[in-house]
Amino acid sequence: MQDERRGAGGWDEVLAGERHLVAPGGEWRSALYRVAVDQFSRAADLLDLEDDVRARLLEPRRALAVNFPVRRDDGVVESFTGYRVQHTLTMGPTKGGMRYGPGVSMGECAALAMWMTFKCALLGLPFGGAKGGVRCDPNRLSEGELERLTRRYASEIFPIIGPDRDIPAPDMATGEREMAWFMDTYSQQVGHPVPEIVTGKPLVLGGTEGRDIATGLGVVFCLEDVLRGRSERVDGLRVAVQGLGNVGSVVVRELADRGARIVAVSDVTTGVVAEAGLDVDAVMEWVGERGFLRDFPRGTVVGRREVLETPCDVLVPAALESQIAGDNAREIDCRLIVEAANGPTTPEADRILAQRGIDVIPDVLANAGGVTVSYFEWVQDQQKYSWQGEEIVTRLRLQLNEALARVHGERRRLGTDWRTAAQAVAIARVAEASRLRTIYP
Ligand code: NAD
Repeated sequence: MQDERRGAGGWDEVLAGERHLVAPGGEWRSALYRVAVDQFSRAADLLDLEDDVRARLLEPRRALAVNFPVRRDDGVVESFTGYRVQHTLTMGPTKGGMRYGPGVSMGECAALAMWMTFKCALLGLPFGGAKGGVRCDPNRLSEGELERLTRRYASEIFPIIGPDRDIPAPDMATGEREMAWFMDTYSQQVGHPVPEIVTGKPLVLGGTEGRDIATGLGVVFCLEDVLRGRSERVDGLRVAVQGLGNVGSVVVRELADRGARIVAVSDVTTGVVAEAGLDVDAVMEWVGERGFLRDFPRGTVVGRREVLETPCDVLVPAALESQIAGDNAREIDCRLIVEAANGPTTPEADRILAQRGIDVIPDVLANAGGVTVSYFEWVQDQQKYSWQGEEIVTRLRLQLNEALARVHGERRRLGTDWRTAAQAVAIARVAEASRLRTIYP
């Protein structure tokens, strides 16, 4: 059984008056980590997972916090805090994105690293999960400052990363540019080029065809697969998308190309709604030129939150975590949610949506296209041999279809929702590996 004192502040009471003690999991305590633990526990209970394996998966194996100075353009030196968390070392090297944002914390990285473990296991990739990042406001930093920050962060976490140890990738506010700086910094340290230290690199540096669109494309493949099971098609569907970054912009474009009507979009600046469907080319051009959706001249301007509540068939959160929560889950007006972002739905919202008959295709499945093509990139780098773009898309579709079929089967077997079934498939795989490797020494 799970240690019940861990939940809902239980250890706080146990340890009241003993402030020198740290509650188990205290290092990772955060709202998002609690969400990850809640989701894990639901699946682990259904699997009747033994206590020792449960304990090994509940907390990350390794975590590093670093503080480092960066010289700003005006000469002032500013201190930044960064993290790298590796959730399990059982499945192979660890893999996971690095993000820049004002909310980046050890607890956030720990939750995201745990989800990465399950995502990789679900897709059958030979990786454990990791996540990292730097707490900063990337919009306040110039390109030069971002380069210095990225290079210093890379050298600070150097002791625990490597092509066979831990391989970073893009996440929020990072992309090809940051991966190029990161790869160069690592290569300078070891004295020769090491393209396989990161994925999501520019093509010319050993990146792969298709990585830039892989996450968004994977979201679309999952949606198509789920719709096929319901004898429905993307063509004519009304879709609302939150977030127009790496992932959201690809989702919008790919769905529009397949005949979906994009009825609402938002980014950090604003939301826009058009019941008849937005002109997606115009939206993309606007955001491409200005960086933000603000002041887009067509459609009705709404608050960012209203985009989530726009009447539609499919809602795709592709921005931040905890966007669909207890306070707005009753206002969500769609038939299906496909989680392109990591952790966009809280457990409380999950329960409300289930009662309302709204299915949620979970992040660990829906956005797994990114890490799957990252795996293809890592394999190509190791082989020193590039695959054709067509082969990558075919393999991606196949791997996601197989994962979705496994989740669908588990959902029926356990009589549960998509998220719990997806986690159950993944946890069972990691648990089996843990049992076989036993405990060292
Ligand atoms: P990004 O930084 O490229 O884009 C984020 C987008 O969200 C931007 O358009 C931003 O304006 C918008 N946004 C921020 N706050 C918002 C708010 N309050 N309301 C509405 N929009 C808001 O990030 P990304 O790489 O597209 O990642 C998005 C999500 O997808 C994250 O949860 C990330 O962890 C997840 N993800 C990304 C990848 C990848 O390959 N990049 C892979 C798997 C999962």
